[in-house]
Amino acid sequence: MLAGRTALVTGSTSGIGLAVARALARAGAKVMLNGSRAAAEAEDLRAGLAAETGAEIGYTQANLGQAASARELVERTIAAFGSLDILVNNAGMQHVAAVDAFPDDQWDALIALNLSSVFHTTKAALPGMKARGWGRIVNIASAHGVVASPFKAPYTASKHAVVGFSKAVALEVAEQGITCNALCPGYVRTPLIDKQVVDQAKVHNMPEDRVIREVILAAQPTKQFVEADEVAAFAVFLCSDAAKSVTGSVQLIDGGWTAR
Ligand code: NAD
Repeated sequence: MLAGRTALVTGSTSGIGLAVARALARAGAKVMLNGSRAAAEAEDLRAGLAAETGAEIGYTQANLGQAASARELVERTIAAFGSLDILVNNAGMQHVAAVDAFPDDQWDALIALNLSSVFHTTKAALPGMKARGWGRIVNIASAHGVVASPFKAPYTASKHAVVGFSKAVALEVAEQGITCNALCPGYVRTPLIDKQVVDQAKVHNMPEDRVIREVILAAQPTKQFVEADEVAAFAVFLCSDAAKSVTGSVQLIDGGWTAR
């Protein structure tokens, strides 16, 4: 379905990003992986994914908390593949704390990664997409892009902002064959959630198994984690020609969370 297309998935060494990268590669795209660790440390992952999918897979180290690194990541992907057709902004972080106890440096880091990096990569990717008259931008926001949770004010703010950014970009490029959508998963069991379980256990003074049942999945009516592969399959659909009219949309994959 995506043969001949080139893709960059930010933060794709684990969790949702890795699942999206795998699914895009299986659909035939060349995929650039990205993470903050050195290329040598990610080589087994890169080579394994290439062998598994038969697709051309690259890896570029970039700390997306820095604007210049985010821009360079896009430039290096274009240099490696000759173009960038599909941009999946996935890299993100969480820090759970009450607003009045939230460390300033964690606010800065979270906004830089979850929001500003989406601006910088999109800005760098759009000229090439416009020149070719085809592009797909998929922003991995969150159910926290449309609803809120206590102790997650900066994360909620960043994801609401990503949803708004996605809509505005979609409108700007609507006549140029480029779509931009926000994917909003509910809780997906990834290393990011494993850390939250530990953090929430401290905030609520509860054992971790109770936190999963009574805090994390309390919001998700299915009482099950969303699978990363479900998010990945949706992302592949958004990148297909069948989804060419789906733009500026907010796609909830949240087990019914936001229906309440
Ligand atoms: P994860 O921790 O498994 O993966 C995060 C990825 O981001 C990793 O590949 C990591 O290397 C990368 N990363 C972290 N900091 C980086 C930096 N400074 N520069 C470059 N890469 C960096 O997390 P995940 O749960 O798979 O989350 C992926 C995205 O999905 C995030 O944007 C997150 O907010 C969002 N999300 C997650 C869930 C969930 O329940 N897991 C739900 C909704 C949305």
